[in-house]
Amino acid sequence: MNSKLPNIGTNIFSVMSALAKEHNAINLSQGFPDYPISNELIDSVTMAMKEGFNQYAPMIGLPELRNALANKIQKLYQASIDAETEITITPGGTYSIYTSLTTILEAGDEVIVLEPAYDSYVPNIETNGAKAICIPLLYPTYCIDWEKVKSSINEKTKAIIINTPHNPTGYVWTKEDMSRLDELTKNTSIYIISDEVYEHITFDGRQHESVLKYPNLFKRSFVTFSFGKVFHTTGWKMGYCVAPENLMKEFRKIHQFICFTCNTPMQVALAKFLANENEYLSLSSFFQKKRDLFLENIKDLPFTIHEKAKGSYFQLASYEKINDMGDKDFAIWLTKQIGVAVIPVSAFYHNGKDDKLIRFCFAKKDETLLEAVEKMRKLI
Ligand code: GLN
Repeated sequence: MNSKLPNIGTNIFSVMSALAKEHNAINLSQGFPDYPISNELIDSVTMAMKEGFNQYAPMIGLPELRNALANKIQKLYQASIDAETEITITPGGTYSIYTSLTTILEAGDEVIVLEPAYDSYVPNIETNGAKAICIPLLYPTYCIDWEKVKSSINEKTKAIIINTPHNPTGYVWTKEDMSRLDELTKNTSIYIISDEVYEHITFDGRQHESVLKYPNLFKRSFVTFSFGKVFHTTGWKMGYCVAPENLMKEFRKIHQFICFTCNTPMQVALAKFLANENEYLSLSSFFQKKRDLFLENIKDLPFTIHEKAKGSYFQLASYEKINDMGDKDFAIWLTKQIGVAVIPVSAFYHNGKDDKLIRFCFAKKDETLLEAVEKMRKLI
């Protein structure tokens, strides 16, 4: 077989979580919570199953769920989204991003990717026969190098992928970033693939700048969201895509032949649970406390924090004062020798660029974070 992805192995999240398990290490690598989810939500799924919601949902998702999402979007982002034509429920955010790219890409197209970038973007582009044009974010602030973005645009540029709040750096796009994006794309046919799965996790009073707030940007956008990040249910693999009708029509043509539809009882439960606004409006303060607890406790350890996470549930740290290993070796060493698993940031670069940084996930119980810090005291 001619591999579609000849240079790709198993993704770093699977590798590090397996290594953590094998060595009984505390897993601050893959991004998922280790605390329980809402009982009300669990009961609601069980109830839906008992009530007989066990057959196919409509291909685009349950109307109750799409309507609840359209209301949420109206309130949060003052955007009028048509639940019937502009929202599709997907099996997770990663799937929504892949399907958006597959909807628009043709062989030879170019897609601008800002690195470090979530590890599925570049393989998703290449699987579609297109080419990723990778532009590094400015180190160590991870601001966007707008001049570079501008000079990378040409007649082959089909799309740009943006991600705010950003995994893995925690950067949060500003209004200024949004207007730069608007300036650069407004007289072009460039699509925007906007990954906003951490929409509710912004710190120190920052606001999430959703593409949905900007009609000029939205008309060319596929926007991805995730229930996993909102209700702490990453294992449910539930998300959704929002796009204007003409784009969504094409997205659905692809979606119906990849997975057809998503599981029904969870859609029933999520539609009801979305009425609890506080569940998502409290996420920023919930995670900010965890970020601060973690930062306060690692401050005596020999890590350097260049920038506090502005959003997401990840914190980057440099380990230069500990040793000069490459970041992958360091992450493996930390897992095996110290008992704490983390993600090497080079995994977010197509060429493995190594700035000697690791990513900690702080979406964990307070005691898990403190236990991890305790283990890392051996580094002093
Ligand atoms: N989004 C999560 C992270 O960045 C994990 C995704 C995955 O495991 N594929 O850690």
